[in-house]
Amino acid sequence: MNVYADNAATTRMSQAAVDAMLPFLRESYGNPSSLYTLGQKAAESLQASRETMAKYLGCDAREITFTSGGSEADNQALLTAATLGARKGKKHIISTAFEHHAILHSLKRLEKQGFEVTLLDVHENGLVTAQQVADAIREDTCLVTVMYANNEIGTIQPIAEIGAVCRERGVLFHTDAVQAAGHLPINVREQNIDMLSLSAHKFHGPKGVGLLYARKGIFLTNLIEGGAQERGKRAGTENVGGIAGMAAAFREACEHMDENIAKVTALRDKLIDGLSKIPHCALNGDREHRLPGNVNFCFEGIEGESMLLLLDGKGICASSGSACTSGSLDPSHVLLAIGRPHEVAHGSLRLTLCESNTEAEIDHILACVPEIVAYLRGMSPVWRDLVEGKKSFIL
Ligand SMILES: *Cc1c(COP(=O)(O)O)cnc(C)c1O
Repeated sequence: MNVYADNAATTRMSQAAVDAMLPFLRESYGNPSSLYTLGQKAAESLQASRETMAKYLGCDAREITFTSGGSEADNQALLTAATLGARKGKKHIISTAFEHHAILHSLKRLEKQGFEVTLLDVHENGLVTAQQVADAIREDTCLVTVMYANNEIGTIQPIAEIGAVCRERGVLFHTDAVQAAGHLPINVREQNIDMLSLSAHKFHGPKGVGLLYARKGIFLTNLIEGGAQERGKRAGTENVGGIAGMAAAFREACEHMDENIAKVTALRDKLIDGLSKIPHCALNGDREHRLPGNVNFCFEGIEGESMLLLLDGKGICASSGSACTSGSLDPSHVLLAIGRPHEVAHGSLRLTLCESNTEAEIDHILACVPEIVAYLRGMSPVWRDLVEGKKSFIL
């Protein structure tokens, strides 16, 4: 049985998204900036996609800038806030220790340019509070950026409350909503969000497409210079087909959100309950305030990568917090941020579900994981030391 359980890494494109894209890959290939009918058809599609995205985000179509994905939107949001802040002599930015690298690495660059960054501690349960944000805001704070939901442990932050604090103190608020968009309700006005990033391939749309919402009056700084596309804020011929695919996927996700949340949450809870029976393991992140599809555990005495290879052998696609893919042996910065010690953080497993997963698939995962954990522990010198009492168990 093949089970795709890595939906936080990327998702399968929906039929609606593929169908929306195809005409622009075939007959309707015009450049939306051209004046003839073929080009104008593309321009109309672009506008329709913008209105669809705006409708489901609760904003105006003019407040949306299409980008190449979540990373680009995050980069542009931070650069914009930094540029606006510097103009007023405000060079302090607040974020959290467990953001995506698109945020953390952008912040590193801004630090080199003379900005001061405060990274809020994340509680053991994977949450930050609006009070922490309120306490960290200073006279010279130009931006607060806090992710909506974490990509590794799935915890959902109190975005509307944080937005309210920022609004009251006159500080710009950006949220990386890449994991939340299409999975949780979003309304940028009601949630006091000034800027928001999302990415199509995390909600069954195509890869390489995303957007940055910026509230009216926020003057974006260009990351890419060139033509006057996207009101001059993001040069380059628009990915018309990809954008149409994103809009179709987003509409479908938002229209079916309640039933998807109910279905995926039930699958998630069954998986969490089943895996919790494995000795010396722990769920990472709050059980309640978490994405419907996110399951993330640490298992003591084993390495995440070995687990992934053995799971692949059983047809299961999963992921681990340990960043072997990035060529680094460091454990996940997210697991370290919630206080997991290195040796435990290395033994993490992330399974992320979507509405097309089935109960039978969960049963398959629940049949394989305990067996694999036991097998790997049987070969692990660390586990032997734990069992023989030479080291003490952490979990
Ligand atoms: C996937 C992801 C990104 C990056 O999005 P891309 O479209 O792949 O560039 C940024 N932030 C979070 C939280 C993500 O999960």
